[in-house]
Amino acid sequence: MSQLQQRIEQVIRADVRQMHAYVVQPSAGMVKLDAMENPFRLPPELQRALGERLGAVAINRYPGERLDVLREALARHAGMPDGHALVLGNGSDELISMLAMACRQPGATVLAPVPGFVMYEMSAQLQGMPFVGVPLRPDTFELDERAMLAAIEQHRPALVYIAYPNNPTGNLFDDAVIERIVQAAPGLVVIDEAYQPFSSRSYIDRLARHEHVLLMRTLSKFGLAGVRLGYMMGRRELIEEIDKVRPPYNVSVLNCEAALFALEHDDEFARQARILRDERQRLIEALQALPGVRPYPSEANMVLVKVPDARRTYEGMKARKVLVKHMGGGSPLLANCLRLTVGSPEENDLMIAALRDSL
Ligand SMILES: *Cc1c(COP(=O)(O)O)cnc(C)c1O
Repeated sequence: MSQLQQRIEQVIRADVRQMHAYVVQPSAGMVKLDAMENPFRLPPELQRALGERLGAVAINRYPGERLDVLREALARHAGMPDGHALVLGNGSDELISMLAMACRQPGATVLAPVPGFVMYEMSAQLQGMPFVGVPLRPDTFELDERAMLAAIEQHRPALVYIAYPNNPTGNLFDDAVIERIVQAAPGLVVIDEAYQPFSSRSYIDRLARHEHVLLMRTLSKFGLAGVRLGYMMGRRELIEEIDKVRPPYNVSVLNCEAALFALEHDDEFARQARILRDERQRLIEALQALPGVRPYPSEANMVLVKVPDARRTYEGMKARKVLVKHMGGGSPLLANCLRLTVGSPEENDLMIAALRDSL
């Protein structure tokens, strides 16, 4: 064994050495529909205006009071209730890591329905906290209420995550079941609304009812995945505690200014979201017309679809330069499933044709 290898084994945690780094699929030259990105760029005049704004930012200074302006703009955008506060993250991924860090103590666990967003489990693992995954009901991908309540009773989790809509299944869980889970949870409940721009419902109007619920959102699926900006709202006292584990200056002056610019032009992003919601419907109908193909209902900018042979279809689509997400290897509930991001009308036409030719 080389000296460096020996040193790595002495110093780097065994569980970290056994992990795989988060894989970003290579996508050069492909129609990229694997990561729920908004396909639209800004119109040229807004690109110029943004360039001027960013050019004028004092990049020689650490981020400062401008972040207060952004927090206020986000609170207004989201309709945050009184008595609540908002913490910013470098993407909501960072907020999820911060939550695990703030809540880790002996006996603390993290619980979420599975299949779900991978970062809930990964953030727990990295903090050495057990993760409890409770399977969704097959086919409907609804919460299994009895199993969720039993797991909450048994593990008394510090954190319960509910993605609303869920990734990768795209559905909104039953509201009455969410309510009973929130009431049963002895710790914090995080409602993750990453897909809110495409959803018919939001938890925001229910947030003020429960002092232990946090509502997390991100500008990524909205159209700023490259900017990295997530935010989380909750009772002021609670947010103040979580804010203590936030790395200082986690949101750069450029992230901040780009996010403010986007909120000032939220009509443009709302227009894009409307197109994507219409495209989602068109995509689902086109998939329904293909033999042996079953798209699931979606309230997000993605559609989960079951095909006869997902590996074959995924590879066939890739050979035709269309990149989607193969869900194999994860939950048995997702056997033969692909997750398709809703793209522009042209991209969706290419995706539908590639899928049809790859069945
Ligand atoms: C994409 C996604 C996020 C993470 O988004 P960031 O880009 O880190 O802000 C969070 N939750 C869910 C459910 C997601 O699908």
